[in-house]
Amino acid sequence: MKRREFVKSTAAAVSLPFWLQGCRFLDAGQYPVYFRSDYETGHLMLQGQQWEKEEAGAVETIIVGGGMAGMAAAVGLGPADFKLFELSGRLGGTSACEQYQGLQFSQGAHYELAYPEYYGEEVLSLFEKLKIIRYEPWKKMWSFEDQQHIIPFQRRQQCFENGMLRPDVIPEGSQKERFYQHLNRYLGEMHLPTRLIPEKNRHLNDLTFFDFLTEHSEVDPQFQRQLDYHMMDDWGGPSNQVSALAGIHYFMCRPYLTKSVDLFSPPNGNFYFLDKMKSVVTDEKLITNHLVSKIEKNKDEFLVEVLDVSRKKKKSFKCEKVIYAGQKHALKYVYRQEAHLFNQVQAPWMILNFVCEAEEGKYGFWQNEFLGENRSFLGFIDSSVQDRRAQKSKRVLTAYYCLEPKDREYLATIEASSKKIAAETLDYITEMLDEKIEVEACFVNVMGHAMSIPVPGFLFNDANEKGTDLIYAGVDNGRLPLLFEAVDSGLMAASVLSS
Ligand SMILES: Cc1cc2nc3c(=O)[nH]c(=O)nc-3n(C[C@H](O)[C@H](O)[C@H](O)COP(=O)(O)OP(=O)(O)OC[C@H]3O[C@@H](n4cnc5c(N)ncnc54)[C@H](O)[C@@H]3O)c2cc1C
Repeated sequence: MKRREFVKSTAAAVSLPFWLQGCRFLDAGQYPVYFRSDYETGHLMLQGQQWEKEEAGAVETIIVGGGMAGMAAAVGLGPADFKLFELSGRLGGTSACEQYQGLQFSQGAHYELAYPEYYGEEVLSLFEKLKIIRYEPWKKMWSFEDQQHIIPFQRRQQCFENGMLRPDVIPEGSQKERFYQHLNRYLGEMHLPTRLIPEKNRHLNDLTFFDFLTEHSEVDPQFQRQLDYHMMDDWGGPSNQVSALAGIHYFMCRPYLTKSVDLFSPPNGNFYFLDKMKSVVTDEKLITNHLVSKIEKNKDEFLVEVLDVSRKKKKSFKCEKVIYAGQKHALKYVYRQEAHLFNQVQAPWMILNFVCEAEEGKYGFWQNEFLGENRSFLGFIDSSVQDRRAQKSKRVLTAYYCLEPKDREYLATIEASSKKIAAETLDYITEMLDEKIEVEACFVNVMGHAMSIPVPGFLFNDANEKGTDLIYAGVDNGRLPLLFEAVDSGLMAASVLSS
């Protein structure tokens, strides 16, 4: 059996193990493939208990996790006495970026859209102070300062399905018109952060997007496939899994229909924002390669055990306050008594960056959306349009896979197959671009708990409102998986502690 036949025969059940079998039919490329995963971290929680202990002293506040939310909390705490611990060797979490020979490229979140007036003022004001955005009164929108990273409208995206290219995932036509007519009444009501969404629309959090759409009319399977693509691309699950609120929010949060909205995507992706926030925080307060493994409440203080991953030492801190901005699934190890507050479905993601030769003056499309047999493969970003002023001899193609929650148990097997997976992914890309791609190196990043899927009931479920001892931040605290939400959650956590 040939590989294509194999892939077709398993397409209906294209879960990770089947797909990995299909990859075995391919020859691996000649380029190096570097692998990164957060998979080993869980083991460290246990192994680290044997490490030598060090008394590390006291600090007023400890922030757990150096993703967007943790970093925003650090900015919010300002000059206060705090330390932020991040288990990885780099900051950023799902918005981290990789570096290679002077290039920076995203290994997670990669874009933002210009902000309308009805967004939350806390994040807008922080980004204005950091000189990320400025207000344009005539547009009633906030625009990005670094205009070189605005993706030109005509280079934004192309979509590939059944061997054909088209401009959008959802093609023009009566179905699309009816769909937008149906949703139009929510335009301007889908705020960010979602905590600002008015009460009258919150019932949309109780049913799935698919059920909402099929209440009054049929959705044909092809249209459902296109909607599912969009939902997986941003929310980590298909339309019959995510809530109607999440689905409507996706299409109605920005005034796409009434204005042209800038799309901002720097080469280092949303790490750009983290870097700007980092520039106003004292470096010594941001400590990487440190895993918070246990938190205990002792009368009026917390005892926090931190594993120094590089030195293999166990440190013990006392603090008055904790902001927990790490993923909440690990609470069952770290702070067991509050683990029950978070009951989530999480999508793993896999990202592959291909560093390739670039042809001078040749620009691709930024987003290349791929609707193929393997539904987990969503397509790729082409860096050639991310900074058109720069002279470049290389471009980076960043491919995205949104895996199913049930695939998590097979993630440990990915490293051994990573060369084959790279070859398979390059095969998809070549099929879409119809050109030979010379790859210099490939970087694979696997994130097991990358995205809490906003299933019905997930949004607005803020654990901090249930009277907890420590403050939670992060998008997995009842928020949509978006940069704006993450930053808002960090700022809110810091302001609760400071008040
Ligand atoms: C593939 C992908 C693409 C995305 N694209 C976009 C996009 O284009 N635009 C957008 O707006 N959003 C996007 N998102 C969502 C966006 O990345 C997130 O909403 C945001 O970055 C989440 O930030 P966070 O701080 O809440 O969580 P995380 O990024 O998950 O950060 C949590 C951090 O805590 C650390 N940590 C966890 N436990 C511990 C511990 N015990 N001790 C120490 N450290 C710990 C982790 O290592 C991690 O760095 C994307 C997400 C993914 C997965």
